[in-house]
Amino acid sequence: MNVALSRLKEVHMKDGKCPLCKVMAILVIVGALNWGSVGLFGVNFVDNLLGGFGANVLKVVYILVGISGVVLLLSCFKSCPACKK
Ligand SMILES: [Zn+2]
Repeated sequence: MNVALSRLKEVHMKDGKCPLCKVMAILVIVGALNWGSVGLFGVNFVDNLLGGFGANVLKVVYILVGISGVVLLLSCFKSCPACKK
């Protein structure tokens, strides 16, 4: 079981990024692209795409992007809690 688990981890981290790092990076990139799009085109595509799901869903996405930003910022000084990178 442990062998299978570590093999799974190995496969997941083949490109040097663990799933947590990837998800956080993607969320921060989404936030950055959205911000850029608001600045450049006045289009908030996160609002446009997810606005239909309601204000609470938008809030959760924005909070997740914010948390990911904080964790990525911390990971510049400390390693990721999941993969120690
Ligand atoms: Zn990681």
